Amino acid sequence: MNDALIKIAYLVASVLFIVGLKGLTHPRTAVRGNRLGAMGMFLAIVVTLVDQNVLTYQWIVAGIAIGTIVGAVLAIRIQMTAMPELVALFNGFGGVASALVAGGELVKGVPSGVPAIQFTIAAGLSGLIGAVTLTGSLMAFGKLRGDIGDAKYPGEQLVKLLVAAACVFCIVMIVMDPTNIMFYWYLMIAASILGILAVIGIGGADMPVVVSLLNSYSGIAAAATGFVISNIVLIVAGSLVGASGIILTMIMCKAMNRSLRNVLFGTWGDDVAGGGVVAGADEIYAGKVKQTSADELAMMLDGIQSMMIVPGYGLAVAQAQHTVRELADLLKSRGVDVKYAIHPVAGRMPGHMNVLLAEADVPYDDLLEMDTANPMFPQTDVALVLGANDVVNPMAREDPTSPIAGMPILDCDKARTVIIVKRSLSPGFAGIPNPLFALDNSLMFFGDAKQNMIDLVAALKEN
Ligand code: NDP
Repeated sequence: MNDALIKIAYLVASVLFIVGLKGLTHPRTAVRGNRLGAMGMFLAIVVTLVDQNVLTYQWIVAGIAIGTIVGAVLAIRIQMTAMPELVALFNGFGGVASALVAGGELVKGVPSGVPAIQFTIAAGLSGLIGAVTLTGSLMAFGKLRGDIGDAKYPGEQLVKLLVAAACVFCIVMIVMDPTNIMFYWYLMIAASILGILAVIGIGGADMPVVVSLLNSYSGIAAAATGFVISNIVLIVAGSLVGASGIILTMIMCKAMNRSLRNVLFGTWGDDVAGGGVVAGADEIYAGKVKQTSADELAMMLDGIQSMMIVPGYGLAVAQAQHTVRELADLLKSRGVDVKYAIHPVAGRMPGHMNVLLAEADVPYDDLLEMDTANPMFPQTDVALVLGANDVVNPMAREDPTSPIAGMPILDCDKARTVIIVKRSLSPGFAGIPNPLFALDNSLMFFGDAKQNMIDLVAALKEN
């Protein structure tokens, strides 16, 4: 295939990636953005296959077939709440694919016309980052599933530093003599150990941030491999993944009021995750928590003018998105102004709530970001908190000693009435009590979010 034509096709694919990524920044344009990105990837794959620089087609077809089957089975079977695990696995596979391609090229030798130093450094970086991404992601996967616990060990930072130094030594050896392939495989082993060591000490509660960071690493590994095989579209796509992964990581850290350094080397996740001991819960809740029922709420909702729905992780667990939309439609038909307040880290992944609500055809215009929703709460008749906990915990605002102090929250406690739907008074992700449940204007509607919404809709229709 004509070289110029290939370059033009890669350029078009790169532009499609960038425009697609821009589309993903807003729910309204996200579907189109996704399609554009997919078109870009399709074009890049077709051009790469038509280009002569590939192995035999049999291997490629076999790889695609195996990958498609594994991917389809995983995607069909995975629960919406387990998405971070799947993303972790995909990142790991992406990382190791880049590392293996770079290793394969190194075995073939430095191609003519490419500076040896560029080739070897890129290959070394791809091996290092790709292997760290693989084992780090597998650790994150195991931790998210609860199969792997946290392991702190003496001299942790020193051990990591020594293993990292071993990786750098291997890369130097590869740069000095690219024919000494053994050092590439030593590098892969050392980097794989580094990936395990880097993630094993981080609390399970911080895994979504780690997954986002590893996503960025997988992109950087791909970009490095792009330099190894002199493939422009791989460099562009890898850089985009690398940059967007870092941006996402920073957004998540900001939304939890944590620094990346604190996530990677701190202990917040260990201290508070998992809902273990809930210190102070008794004093906060004793005698102050008021319970309500579907019938009572149906009467109460009869006269309201505005409602702000606050979705959280429990909504995803209960798969209550469709019944919530039904409730919203019913209230809207009675003249109530219904909106949804979306916290940036509600759920277990950025955008988790947006995806769920989009699945239930909730109009995008009804979704309000935290900064837009917060000033509206004092004028809102009812805040309906559905399976959310940490993201509405006023302690973050009021108690500087709280583990979530400073984390921006949705100010739903400022609404005239707050209805909280959850199954019990158990804590959320951060493992701390929530004084919201004991406020004078709060009512607990205990139960599964979906069942409670079904009951409420039925009671409203009867009313
Ligand atoms: P939380 O984890 O704080 O609370 C979820 C609540 O849902 C629980 O208290 C639980 O209470 C309730 N729940 C569970 N199942 C059901 C059900 N079937 N029906 C009704 N309620 C249910 O969730 P939030 O969304 O408020 O907060 C997200 C947390 O995750 C934050 O701490 C955030 O920092 C963290 N996080 C989020 C990331 C993201 O990107 N989204 C990334 C990293 C961390 P009960 O058991 O009583 O029902």
